Amino acid sequence: MAEPQAIHLSDYRPPAYRVEKTELTFDLDPSTTRVRTRLHLQRHPEYGEDAALTLHGHGLTTERVAIDGQALLESEYRIEDDQLVIDRVPAEFVLDTEVVIDPANNTALEGLYVSGPMFCTQCEPEGFRRITWYPDRPDVMSVFTTTVIGDRQRQPVLLSNGNPIERGELPNDRHFVTWEDPHPKPSYLFALVAGSLECVRDSFTTMSGREVALELWVEAPNLEKTDWAMASLKRAMTWDEEAYGREYDLDLFMIVAVDDFNMGAMENKGLNIFNSAAVLANPQTTTDAAFQRIEGIVAHEYFHNWSGNRVTCRDWFQLALKEGFTVFRDQSFSSDINSAPVKRIEDAALLRTLQFAEDAGPTAHPVRPDHFIEISNFYTLTIYEKGAEIVRMLSNLLGEETFRRGSDLYFERFDGQAVRVEDFVDVMAEVSGEDLTQFMRWYAQAGTPQLTARSDYNAEQRQLTLTIRQQTPPTPGQEDKQALHVPVRMGLLGADGEPIKLVINGESNGTDTVLHLREAEQRWVFDDVDEGAVPSLLRGFSAPVRLDYPWSRDELSHLMRFDEDGFNRWDATQRLALIAIEEMMVAHQRGELMALDARLIEAFRHLLREPTDDKAVLAEMLRLPSEAWIAEQQTRVDIDAIHGARRAAIEQLADNLFAEFESVYHANQQTDAYAPTPDQIASRSLRNVALSYLVANGEPEALNMARAQYEADHNMTDVRAALTLLAHSDRADLGDPAIRAFGERWAHDSLVMDQWFATQVTRPQADALERVRFLMKHPAFSIKNPNRVRALIGAFTQQNRVNFHRLDGQGYQLLADVVIELNRLNPEIAARMIVPLTRYHRLDEQRQKLMRGELERIRKEELSRNVYEVVEKALA
Ligand SMILES: [Zn+2]
Repeated sequence: MAEPQAIHLSDYRPPAYRVEKTELTFDLDPSTTRVRTRLHLQRHPEYGEDAALTLHGHGLTTERVAIDGQALLESEYRIEDDQLVIDRVPAEFVLDTEVVIDPANNTALEGLYVSGPMFCTQCEPEGFRRITWYPDRPDVMSVFTTTVIGDRQRQPVLLSNGNPIERGELPNDRHFVTWEDPHPKPSYLFALVAGSLECVRDSFTTMSGREVALELWVEAPNLEKTDWAMASLKRAMTWDEEAYGREYDLDLFMIVAVDDFNMGAMENKGLNIFNSAAVLANPQTTTDAAFQRIEGIVAHEYFHNWSGNRVTCRDWFQLALKEGFTVFRDQSFSSDINSAPVKRIEDAALLRTLQFAEDAGPTAHPVRPDHFIEISNFYTLTIYEKGAEIVRMLSNLLGEETFRRGSDLYFERFDGQAVRVEDFVDVMAEVSGEDLTQFMRWYAQAGTPQLTARSDYNAEQRQLTLTIRQQTPPTPGQEDKQALHVPVRMGLLGADGEPIKLVINGESNGTDTVLHLREAEQRWVFDDVDEGAVPSLLRGFSAPVRLDYPWSRDELSHLMRFDEDGFNRWDATQRLALIAIEEMMVAHQRGELMALDARLIEAFRHLLREPTDDKAVLAEMLRLPSEAWIAEQQTRVDIDAIHGARRAAIEQLADNLFAEFESVYHANQQTDAYAPTPDQIASRSLRNVALSYLVANGEPEALNMARAQYEADHNMTDVRAALTLLAHSDRADLGDPAIRAFGERWAHDSLVMDQWFATQVTRPQADALERVRFLMKHPAFSIKNPNRVRALIGAFTQQNRVNFHRLDGQGYQLLADVVIELNRLNPEIAARMIVPLTRYHRLDEQRQKLMRGELERIRKEELSRNVYEVVEKALA
């Protein structure tokens, strides 16, 4: 078998042939779907008549190829390496092809496949080539007309992009619908859905007064779970008009919920296809977190209609152009609707635990990579989340108004085009007059920049000098790094907790300013500063960097209490807790008693006793740093010490503050009917954090409170929180009956069963791995369904570190077995699931050896490009 080869950005060439018009006819059948394609092609003026026509295709049975109505002999074209090549073609011509595909056996879930009772598609990034021969690259934009023919009984609903222009009956109980999408689009935005579906209808009047029909298509039993997504969609449409001046451009917008789906959702033009987990919600089955996630994803996909569809990517190296910008847009939307500081905390926490880990691991890559073997492997946190941070920095750098002028110009200038990251940044430079040359390095350089800040106080001059150094560590293939342009938002807090005026070189900057770090080392001198000032740095997480500053514990407690920046109050708490937990880790390693720093207990006591109107932030502050984030801070990761010390810290906080947690728990009891409003979500969040401490204390009384909350059955957020506490306790007499009852009650609802799986396999007890093996045989589990795999295998390997990393290596073996099976069925999911196995570099030698051993075992298999690329990097 030939080794898969990398594709390089520097090899980019414009397409030799444009596709003016694309006409598709699908004759649907589960195992033999016939696809007839007519392409109106035109040679690009840059190319001569010797330019061959090259089309992409994968797994197609080709029955006919014709030019201008003339069928070609098999000797007149070649099919090799997933390409159809015709050496001599006219400058302008019509190409007809006819192929047969097998959707029922398409377990990769790319292209056209069968999910339950329906046909559906996923074409981004390169799924369209599994449907028909086509120049399957984002810079070929074409107008599509699609006729879908199906069985009248089994596929009464036939959907595609755009507007329906014709429908009719056919012999043999078949029927058809023809769809026309007037907006030119790349093939990755093509979509088709057919099946027995029910529709919820609504409408939206755009800012120019046009009426848009909104349709949400689901299987009949899910009709009761559509209200939230529909309401979210309308909020998103309004928000995009107000915040970005973007109006929807077709008469119809459709969303379809699908059970088997590799990603969260897909922004196909006019016909978004959603993983059912990312769209279906109601209070009995859905947690607050999931309600918010659904709202964000519905908005994200809708926002793509402009940032992605109208203006698209020239090639897949530019993926962050559409994803970074659109994630930034959905983050802004969610933070306008919900608690803004909590949204920032959640996004930053995700970035600095998981994205930083990616940046420090073997698969580290720039936000705009310059080569890849399999593009599906690059739908990463780096592209999405770090990409969004770069756009956020740009917006902060330019100011909201200038940024908006820039985005307006970007949409106007590049409408209907396929462009590059440079085009976006250049527009921003143009409207602001800023030189963004250095800023562009954020897209090219992999790795997380490390800032080291130090302050020096001169009592005589009443001056505080702040020195910040930056350095980005080497990453695979990138040894030397250059200095970046890093915006550092900051302030100074006086000893009395009041903000200090920031005077630099005689100029006043208010009490909150942005320092522009551009050099490897830079220095700022603040005048008129009294003794005891405490710097508050990187407010609002103003750049995706690690920050080292030697705050004392008293200074951190001071920031926790007085910082005006909600994000930094939370960050100070995390840092204070980290110092305390790291101390306990040392005790754990020495076999000594682990005693929690009394200052952390007092800081928490203060938080719990002081009345606050920001319960959402308080709840976040009361959560100790996750095991994953603590691990991120260590040069040598000690899995057991981290778990043991964190657990002990929770127990000691619970013992010392039982009465305080109890009164917070009771004070936040809800009596109103459930609604996923920011106020209610904040109260529930705070109350459930309090309950988790109470249960950690081990008093039977606390477990009874959890059981009562479970049995009260108010809403899934409270039920799931209580169920988790019961199932993760040592009291099998409470946990087992609850798990059993929950499983029986929700056996009919696969999305709730996913929560049931995840709750069980994240147990800290030593039997978690055996539970995974047991549950893999459960009738509700299927390795072919990505949601089930994520709920069972993903939750265990990513959220149950102490059991996944068992010293007998069984956790690694289990994951390797699953990856080997998925490699054959669904390579995209296989390459995602394998990631925890590649993060061995900072673990102890024994675990490193075990993990590498499993990677070597996987390497012996006949690997998909997806898994091959990850394994090769991990073992390099
Ligand atoms: Zn997206």
